[in-house]
Amino acid sequence: MTEAPAIKAFDVFSVTIPQDDSYLGGLGPGESVNARGYVVRRGNRTIYPTEMRSAVVRVTLESGEEGWGETYGLVAPGAIFALVDDLIAPFVAGRSPFEVQAIWEDLYDLMRVRGYTGGFWLDAMAAVDIALWDLMGKLTDLPLHQLLGGRHRDRIPAYASGLPRPTLKEKVDLAKSLVDRGYRAVKIAAVVSYDGVEREIAALREGLGPDVALMVDCHWIYTPAEAIALAERLAPYDLAFIEAPCKTEDVAGLASIAARSPIPVAAGEEWRTSYDALARLERRAVSIVQPEMGHTGITQFMRIAHLAEAHHAKVIPHATIGAGIFAAASLHASSTVLSLPWHEYQHSIFHHSASLMDGRLDCREGYFLLPEGPGLGVTPNARFWERARKLG
Ligand code: MG
Repeated sequence: MTEAPAIKAFDVFSVTIPQDDSYLGGLGPGESVNARGYVVRRGNRTIYPTEMRSAVVRVTLESGEEGWGETYGLVAPGAIFALVDDLIAPFVAGRSPFEVQAIWEDLYDLMRVRGYTGGFWLDAMAAVDIALWDLMGKLTDLPLHQLLGGRHRDRIPAYASGLPRPTLKEKVDLAKSLVDRGYRAVKIAAVVSYDGVEREIAALREGLGPDVALMVDCHWIYTPAEAIALAERLAPYDLAFIEAPCKTEDVAGLASIAARSPIPVAAGEEWRTSYDALARLERRAVSIVQPEMGHTGITQFMRIAHLAEAHHAKVIPHATIGAGIFAAASLHASSTVLSLPWHEYQHSIFHHSASLMDGRLDCREGYFLLPEGPGLGVTPNARFWERARKLG
């Protein structure tokens, strides 16, 4: 058997993503853009750039073959560059992409005792991990879902996420138009439910009928007692899940919500590793996990999914703003997970992400279609390069 070509070079790009609507709608009272182009949204107290962007990593082999990875690059994308350039590249160069999981574990060990078990460090590792899996697919001429052991489905049900409209009537109208286009599940964001979550959910249930699944994302804003009370009030509306009801740090609080909520509890978009998942799953603090490929990479996404399965939890992956690379990875990985009723669909962003990629990246009539071809099955196109800036 011939040896696989060695890893040679790493490049990091900041890529701007076109967007129709902000996920949380237009700027609210008291929200303003600072000199760096950032705005803090009051509802979830989170910072966003005015121009959406992600961090893309290219890994090149001695043979010239290129693999693509991606992580969050919304804020301080230079941090991802510094970590890849200074720590990961010299450590990983010369190794084989077929060592992807060993590489992930070795990188994690480098910083573990310093407490770098999440955040930007794990994001940088996620981008590199995705690129190495892409390279394995290209070297073997196999799609990622086959490298992962085989898919259970060739299309993935999508739930429509967010109703970024100013009034309740417009939100219901938008939800109706999504249902008319084939989406059978809709999620709202509690932090922009200006008429109140209960009223908004009641209007949606009334407008959409009993057969459309409804969910609410709480963006970590409630105390456990508030979240339990909300879940009890929302119980008559038959919700599919209540997401991120309390602070991510309060695992015991989340467990207390899950024990008393009449609605299934979901969380996980901010997790990086199976350790984050295990801490919640072993306490039965969630019955739905929501891994985000841009934070986990493929290696940890799959470990979280397998851990969830062992704890009878469903996997409903998160979808954030990207250039289409981690989206493709997430769809491949999702196709291999047994208990996966939906994948999040950012209806105001996904087609823009897809427009930056060659290869099939498509969501229509309520379903994501799987990318085709070796590895991720997508590669940056000319529109991507118009929007990419090489860092360093
Ligand atoms: Mg969320």
